[in-house]
Amino acid sequence: SSTYTATNEPMLEFAKGSKETQELEKVMGQYKDPVDVPIVIGDEEIRTELVQRQVAPFDHKRTVATFYYATPEIIKKAIESSLKARVDWEKRPLQERCDIFLRAADLISKEHRMNVIASTMLGQAKNVFQAEIDAAAELVDFLRFDVQFAQRTTSYHPVSTEPNVTKNTMVYRGLEGFWAAVCPFNFTAIGGHLPMAPALMGNVSLWKPSDTAVLSNYTVFKIYREAGLPPGVINFVPADGPTYGDTITASPHLAGLNFTGSVATFQRLWKQIGQNLDTYSNFPRLIGECGGKNMHFVHPSADIESVANGTVRSAYEFNGQKCSACSRLYVPESVWPKLKERFLSILSDVKMGSPLDRENLVTAVIDAKAFARIKGYIEHAKSSPNLSILAGGKCDDSVGYFVEPTIVLTKDPKDKIMQEEIFGPVLTVYVYPDNQMMETVEVAKNTSPFALTAAVYVEDEAAKAQLVDAFRFNAGNFYINDKSTGSIVGQQPFGGSRRSGTNDKAGGPLYMAKFTSPQAIKETF
Ligand code: GLU
Repeated sequence: SSTYTATNEPMLEFAKGSKETQELEKVMGQYKDPVDVPIVIGDEEIRTELVQRQVAPFDHKRTVATFYYATPEIIKKAIESSLKARVDWEKRPLQERCDIFLRAADLISKEHRMNVIASTMLGQAKNVFQAEIDAAAELVDFLRFDVQFAQRTTSYHPVSTEPNVTKNTMVYRGLEGFWAAVCPFNFTAIGGHLPMAPALMGNVSLWKPSDTAVLSNYTVFKIYREAGLPPGVINFVPADGPTYGDTITASPHLAGLNFTGSVATFQRLWKQIGQNLDTYSNFPRLIGECGGKNMHFVHPSADIESVANGTVRSAYEFNGQKCSACSRLYVPESVWPKLKERFLSILSDVKMGSPLDRENLVTAVIDAKAFARIKGYIEHAKSSPNLSILAGGKCDDSVGYFVEPTIVLTKDPKDKIMQEEIFGPVLTVYVYPDNQMMETVEVAKNTSPFALTAAVYVEDEAAKAQLVDAFRFNAGNFYINDKSTGSIVGQQPFGGSRRSGTNDKAGGPLYMAKFTSPQAIKETF
C-alpha cells in the first residue's frame, strides 16, 4: 500500500463569461424543477407519507427539493442495514476504503463540481464563490486529507523486543455498532464529512442531512455511491430531528455521534445518551461542533484597513451563518472614528440579494426560524437604551428571508447581544478607552460561554504577546492579524472548546483517531 500526500484543491475563479461560469449556468438549468430526494437504505429508495419541501431561502416560491421524513421504524431499518454492511466493510483493507473516497474527491473536483455548487447555491443561498469554497474545495480537501491522516493514524506498529519469542501487532478496526451523523445546513462540506470520516476508518454511519440542505447533501451522497461506496455503509436518512435523536440514542448499537449544530441539540442528545448508558454495548463516542460568539479584538497599533476588510468579511459573508463568524468587535477609542468611516464606506458597496447574482455578498438567511431570531436581536438593539444601530437593521421576508448587514453599537460590553450566538449578519461594536485595554480584555474573555474562534489585530510586538497569552483558552482557532473565519483543511484544523464543542479538530490528523478502536495483539511463540 502506498502513502498518500494531500494538497489543497485549487479554486476556480468563476470569472464572468469563463468556461466554468458557462458550464455552471448549464447545470443550473437542470434544477428548474424540484428534485425528488428519497431516503436511501442499502440499495432501496424509500418514500414515506411525511412529505417535506426544501424551499430556496431567497425565494419563497421556489421549491428546490421534495423529500420524505423517515419514521422510527425506517430509522431502525437503516441501523440494521448498516450493521449488516459493516460485517464486510470493516474487513476491507484501509487502502480500498481510501481509494473509494479519493475517487469521490476526483468526481467532485471534475465531473460533478457544478452539481455540488448549484445545489448549494439554490438550497443554502450561497453565491458562486462561497459555494465553490465550501461544496467543491473544502469537501475535496476533507476527503483527501482524511485519507492522508487515516494512513498516518494507523501507521504505528508496536515494537517486539524479542522477535523470536513474541510478536506485537496493532490492528486498527472500526468501532462496533454504527455512527450517527447529524449535519448542519451551513456547509455542504461538513454534511459530506460527518458520515464519511467514520466510514473511511471502517465504520458504518447514518447520514441525517439538515432539512435546509437536503439537496446538496443528497448530491454528495450519490457521488460517494458512484465512487464505489457499497450499499448500506452510509445510509441517507432525512428525518425530523427529535424522531432521529430518540431512535438512534435508543439503539444499543450506537457507537458514536458525529454532530455539528446547536448547543441545545448537542446537549439534548448527550443527556439522552447518558440516560441510556446502561443499555449500550460500547460507550458511545461523542463529537460535537456547536456554536460561537467570536470576537475581533483591536489594539491601537492595528492596521485599520485590514481590520475593516477582515471584519466585514467575517461578520457578513454567508450572512454571518458560520460558527466562526465575528459577531463582537472591541475597538479602542483612538482608532474608532477612522474605522467607523471605513466600515460605512465598505458596507455601502456591499450588495444584498439573490445568491444567483454573483455581485451579492449578502443573500437570504436560511429559514423563517432564523429570520425571526435575528430580527429579535435587531429589535432588542432598537429598543434598548444601551444599544444603537449604526448601519443596516432592515428585515424583509416578503420574497425571501433578507436581513441587512447590521452594525450595532453597545455601551454595555455585557449586554446579551455580546453574549448570545445570533448566527446572522449582525455585528456589535464596543468602543473601549485606550487606557483600559486589559480591563476590556478581561470582560471580553468572560462574556460568552463559547471558545470557537477569535482574532486580534495588533502590530505592536509587546502588546501582541500580551493579547495572545490573555486569550489562550478563548478560541480553538485563533488568528493574529487575520479574520476569524475561513479555516482551511490541513492548514488550520477546526474546532473549539467550552460550549463550542469537543474540539476534535476536523481537517486535522487527530480527528481520525476518534473513529478507530484498535486491537493490540501479542503472540508468543
Ligand atoms: N470552518 C469554517 C470557518 O473557519 C466554519 C465552520 C462552521 O461554521 O461550522 O469559517
